[in-house]
Amino acid sequence: MADSKRSKKNRRPAGDQDKKHRTDDQERRERRFLPELTRTRTACIAFGWLGAVALGAGVWGRWVSEPAHDFAVYLVIAGALATAAALWWASTGSPVRVGDAGVATERGSEVTRLLWCDIQRISVDGKRLLVQGKERTISLSFELHRRAVAWVLSEAAQRVPEVMDVKQQVVRELPKPNPSDGQVLPVTDLQVAGRHCAASGKVIAFERDARLCPDCGQVYHHAHVPTSCKTCQKELGGRALRVHLS
Ligand SMILES: [Zn+2]
Repeated sequence: MADSKRSKKNRRPAGDQDKKHRTDDQERRERRFLPELTRTRTACIAFGWLGAVALGAGVWGRWVSEPAHDFAVYLVIAGALATAAALWWASTGSPVRVGDAGVATERGSEVTRLLWCDIQRISVDGKRLLVQGKERTISLSFELHRRAVAWVLSEAAQRVPEVMDVKQQVVRELPKPNPSDGQVLPVTDLQVAGRHCAASGKVIAFERDARLCPDCGQVYHHAHVPTSCKTCQKELGGRALRVHLS
């Protein structure tokens, strides 16, 4: 009885279930990757710890201990320099996001994003993957972001294969993308107002007027959504997504 009561209480009206299903289907997501803990980064963190210890010992020897030790000043200088160098070194490499809204890098709270539809070429330059757009290029280190690079190549191969200029050998040497990689987050910062509709050329004045291709992220005015995407050629029409679900 209690069970049936609870299940009745938790049951959603059919319309709500449909709405939730649609919302789940339409929510854009991406994976956030932190720089990987390579051997170099581990050594750098250890170096920073040693610097901090030297700095503490120097402060104690010069300003706390009785009598003060002259050599402690050198410990303070060396410790401070080592700590600062390690912090700078460890901070190289920022989080990377890969998903429905293309490829993005974070610097503090600022997110620099390239939608799949805006990517013109993906290539390798030494130990870096270059994701080039018309107005910006995102450069990812193979060492710090092996998994993110693997995801970029895997997603690009499905969404915008024509921009790929990467040898299969490079792809084979990367880890295989795994569903447990990175942290899955909803895309919340996408702004498309001011862009031009890819079909009509009309300026998208408000976010609510925009519709996006679920595959490449191309932007269309809601009144001019074509049956197939102008950029990735995949079926569009009713598959086009709103920018914000609410
Ligand atoms: Zn598309």
